[in-house]
Amino acid sequence: MSTEAINHRNVIVIGGGPAGYTAAIYLGRGELSPLVLAGYQAGGQLMLTTEVENFPGFANGIQGPKLMEEMREQAIKFGAEILNEDVTEVDFSQGPPFRVKTYDKEFTANAIVIATGASAKWLGLESEQKLIGSGVSSCATCDGAFYKDKVVALVGGGDSAMEEALFLTRYAKKVYIIHRRDKFRASKIMQQRVFDNDKIEIIWNHVVTEVLSKKDGFLEKVIGAELKNTQTGETSTIEIDGLFIAIGHKPNTEIFKGQIEMDELGYVKTFEHTMTSKEGVFAAGDVVDIRYRQAITAAGDGCRAAIDASRWLEEKELIV
Ligand code: NAP
Repeated sequence: MSTEAINHRNVIVIGGGPAGYTAAIYLGRGELSPLVLAGYQAGGQLMLTTEVENFPGFANGIQGPKLMEEMREQAIKFGAEILNEDVTEVDFSQGPPFRVKTYDKEFTANAIVIATGASAKWLGLESEQKLIGSGVSSCATCDGAFYKDKVVALVGGGDSAMEEALFLTRYAKKVYIIHRRDKFRASKIMQQRVFDNDKIEIIWNHVVTEVLSKKDGFLEKVIGAELKNTQTGETSTIEIDGLFIAIGHKPNTEIFKGQIEMDELGYVKTFEHTMTSKEGVFAAGDVVDIRYRQAITAAGDGCRAAIDASRWLEEKELIV
């Protein structure tokens, strides 16, 4: 048997976050033996959070990494094969079968589910990276509730920043918005809501140059941020309990460029339900969703893509 024949699958799921694993659970239960290329850092953005309190079914919350481990096990239970490998190249031009390459392997499949998610953009400071999940977060919806009556700061000036700052005011007693310019890029209506909120103080023309922390038992805890005035170069510090970064997300779609249609920001476009511009290639989760970006919506989307992919394979009589 040739290598190609050994590596041929009914369906390959690219991505190992809530969308990818949910797709794999449904495809597995549908007896399609999916291969999941979950990426070197499998688990997606939930690996960066601590407690997840808003995923239905866990009244007492669940740790993000634990939730992903459970989803992964559930997919394996139904026959999914999962490899923690990054996809380096795809070729959808001739398919089906479509070609998918990892660093040292090549696979073909009659259907593909793209679930590579999106990554939050970070400032890139060493102190910020070290404290992700321990006081530094890129998701107010996920982590805001941990800051009841605390003081937090949020970096950004777009619609996400406005939305997240407003959300944080439900919990925090004070929310600083730190923006590098003297104008927001957000829509006027969102800006106005921010201006009208007494709990929010805007620090214009500043960037965060360091996240300050101290040891609290075994854990490191955020205690402040060092700021630099972008006009004068002067530095100052603020005392905060948490720092939120809302400077945008980037869909993880580099490898699909030229293969399927995307919008101007790089999000995958879907046409008939979850099908992309290429028949047989489906997409789910944050890679298509700039609006909701929740684990539960990604999981729901993964389910939809799996159902669409299996119906399509059946219709085309492509199941082996
Ligand atoms: P965005 O519009 O690209 O805004 C990013 C913000 O972060 C900008 O204000 C930018 O500053 C700032 N920023 C970028 N890099 C930075 C850095 N290294 N240091 C400090 N600040 C930095 O991103 P977004 O807010 O996530 O929105 C993305 C898209 O989704 C937009 O089209 C938005 O309208 C849409 N969206 C819509 C809704 C809604 O309709 N409800 C909600 C969320 C998002 P500058 O302004 O100086 O460039």
